[in-house]
Amino acid sequence: MPLKILLHGARGRMGRAIAGVAGEMNAVIHATDDAGDNPARHVAGCDVIIDFSSPSATGQLLELAVANAKPVVIGTTGHSAAEKKRLRTLAGKVPCVWAGNFSVGVNLLFALTRRAAAVLGADYDVEVVEMHHRFKQDAPSGTAARLLEIILEERKLTAKALRHGRSGLTGERKSSEVGVHALRGGDVVGEHTVLFAALGERLELTHKAGDRVIFACGALRAAHWVVKQKPGLYDMQDVLGLT
Ligand code: NAD
Repeated sequence: MPLKILLHGARGRMGRAIAGVAGEMNAVIHATDDAGDNPARHVAGCDVIIDFSSPSATGQLLELAVANAKPVVIGTTGHSAAEKKRLRTLAGKVPCVWAGNFSVGVNLLFALTRRAAAVLGADYDVEVVEMHHRFKQDAPSGTAARLLEIILEERKLTAKALRHGRSGLTGERKSSEVGVHALRGGDVVGEHTVLFAALGERLELTHKAGDRVIFACGALRAAHWVVKQKPGLYDMQDVLGLT
């Protein structure tokens, strides 16, 4: 039987990409979007809910999932700290995969970044550079935010170490800084580089997404996986067995 999916944000770029590959990934889509659609109408008949809409929509959708005991896949990014806190409380009550990036390559980049940060240590300056299409609403991207979390964890630093862009008389770079740079333009689907620079050498780990289909396939893979899990908050590393 195909997996029955309530897809929130179905008319967006990601929603259309998911609908495009649903058939070949054994899933059928019930579409809901901003324009007056009420997801509550479709929730009873679905096996799982997928959210690729806007940060303000995720909380209410997750409440609907909890009230109906439905598993959820959250792909939306750009939530505020307060929204994230609310989502974390709700998400553990149903099986929930919440990931800032559903591509297999990016999830491997997360693991490689952790390893590189641990091996290279504080002698290497770390900067994260990301680029996305001109329509993207949030910055830095959810993927860049996750890369930064990993680097801060490994270097035992807090968010105070983050340096968002540089301008003016900045002075010398401190070794405790972690630089973050968000480029925007054209139709770039998503590019992330983690750069480790020391005196005499530089290591760059780069992932380039060429098509949204990689996120769509990843989200559908997560949907097939999450319906078999116990309530709890999971990420794509769990789905891929990278943890
Ligand atoms: P988009 O703007 O093309 O589409 C968003 C859709 O959501 C639109 O159709 C819009 O009408 C709808 N929407 C907005 N507010 C809504 C609401 N309150 N209720 C229901 N629907 C609502 O954006 P996109 O490029 O498809 O990206 C959607 C989200 O997914 C963004 O947060 C983006 O950063 C994120 N994203 C995540 C991944 C990942 O792998 N996790 C990959 C790509 C994009």
